[in-house]
Amino acid sequence: MSAEIWDDIVIGAGSSGAVIASRLSEDSRRRVLLIEAGPDYSGSDVTPFSLLSALKPARDHDWGFDAEMTPGRRFEYARGRVVGGSSAVNACLALRGLPSDYDEWQKFGLEEWSWSDVLPVFRSLEDDVEISNEYHGQGGPIGVRRHELNNLTPGQAAFYAACIDLGFPETPDHNHPEASGVGTGPWNIDSQGRRISTAMAYLESARGRKNLRILGDLLVDKVVIEEGRAVAVDVIGPMGRERIDGRRITLSCGTIGTPSVLLRSGIGDPVELKRNGIVPIVKRCGVGRNLIDHARLGVGWMGMPNFVGNDSPYLEVLLRYTSTGSDRLNDMQMMLFQMLPEPSLSIRTQLMKPLSQGQLCLNSADPLVQPDIRLNLLTDPEDMRRIIDGLQLIARFVANPRIAQIGARSLVLDDGSNMDASVFSQQIQDVEWAVEYAQRAVRHYVHPVGTSRMGSLDDPDAVVDQYGKLIGVQGLRIADASIMPTIPAANTNLSCIMIGERIAQWMLNEAD
Ligand SMILES: Cc1cc2nc3c(=O)[nH]c(=O)nc-3n(C[C@H](O)[C@H](O)[C@H](O)COP(=O)(O)OP(=O)(O)OC[C@H]3O[C@@H](n4cnc5c(N)ncnc54)[C@H](O)[C@@H]3O)c2cc1C
Repeated sequence: MSAEIWDDIVIGAGSSGAVIASRLSEDSRRRVLLIEAGPDYSGSDVTPFSLLSALKPARDHDWGFDAEMTPGRRFEYARGRVVGGSSAVNACLALRGLPSDYDEWQKFGLEEWSWSDVLPVFRSLEDDVEISNEYHGQGGPIGVRRHELNNLTPGQAAFYAACIDLGFPETPDHNHPEASGVGTGPWNIDSQGRRISTAMAYLESARGRKNLRILGDLLVDKVVIEEGRAVAVDVIGPMGRERIDGRRITLSCGTIGTPSVLLRSGIGDPVELKRNGIVPIVKRCGVGRNLIDHARLGVGWMGMPNFVGNDSPYLEVLLRYTSTGSDRLNDMQMMLFQMLPEPSLSIRTQLMKPLSQGQLCLNSADPLVQPDIRLNLLTDPEDMRRIIDGLQLIARFVANPRIAQIGARSLVLDDGSNMDASVFSQQIQDVEWAVEYAQRAVRHYVHPVGTSRMGSLDDPDAVVDQYGKLIGVQGLRIADASIMPTIPAANTNLSCIMIGERIAQWMLNEAD
């Protein structure tokens, strides 16, 4: 790489970073470099099938992390490693949070992120091919479509009917701000059934621009800070170590990658930095803290012969509901998952407004060593209460004849043990047993947020201000899931794209 100075360096080409690089490079006077640790496929025609197929999440472009779910118990923690990031490997459920999810960010002094601020951005980023009203947009980069209700696969149709049997209302539009109940999910897939990643939606059309360069297979070790200003990044690529200079640097490495780069750059809790042999440069103790993910737990069973195949969709129907006694609307989700290998069918309850928090720390200053990720799922008693309420609802589902008919008689629990459905239904009423089951089997929902959260300038745990600017360092921003102060009651991809759009607009209007 020549010794030129880029106007903008964006690190991480995922849900937010690809959007930032694409939008900034619309200004032809600005020279933009997008750096990504994973490979860059320069168009859909050369992209592997696994990344294009929206039938199920892709597993072959992953960081290979694991994380501690509950003390002492680790489980794999998928994160996309490719241009497109996790948006290129995910399950394509295109769901927004509730208005209250963004309005609650105001408690952190973030008046720019209320529902009335973000709704226009959600509308402009989508091309909803079915619903046109004041909540939906047409013509945006992310196509959104729904499965036809009368054309569901048998398992999904059974789950939908069981939801009605159990008294849940039908909702034709899960992205309506007041929607609750059962409906076919909104999916970011195109008319050919392909996953619409941010690589496809935002970068494919931008690749021809002379002022945008995309470099894949380049791992960023750290940001170089001189006299309080970010001036360059240190990268490791096929040519070894290199320094690349930039006037503005934006970190979009996601909830795991971004705090890792910050810590290696000397930004964080000085005690933790010194423990890893890193010289502290800026004290920001919030880096790596406030790690939040949704929690999920359920039961599975073997599909009947030929019931689930390699071409079965992973998901079609979504139930959003409020747990018993909760004052948070839609604080839970439930879905029927279908995917080989056996047990190929499962029902899982998902806790969408968790109160428990985890933390990310470095294990080493070496960028090739994965960080220590601890989720502390269900440590808050209210989280445990709601997940058990969800397990008891699952017992009602497996007792429903429509679900029994698709094989839910002999169950495989999430801890690998086997149990007859009728025994599970009794056992799950025993709260002591249910707590132990939850602690040994609960998993994350691949939606980590919060490890470099936004906040006001006088908030000691805030890492960035509400415009994504790093507090205490000039010329450095963050735009990705890590800046969310709390987690939305929805899958997180659309919120990350919205964050990319919103911060890019501010960056286009600022010199910094
Ligand atoms: C398997 C899976 C299924 C999911 N399903 C859904 C779903 O159906 N619906 C939904 O809404 N959400 C889903 N999600 C979550 C959603 O995709 C993420 O919340 C979102 O993509 C995160 O966006 P981001 O920009 O914060 O990070 P990412 O999209 O993960 O982007 C971060 C990028 O930075 C790169 N990077 C990291 N560190 C470095 C470094 N040091 N140097 C260079 N590059 C680096 C990474 O390789 C990656 O490309 C899923 C996630 C996964 C993993």
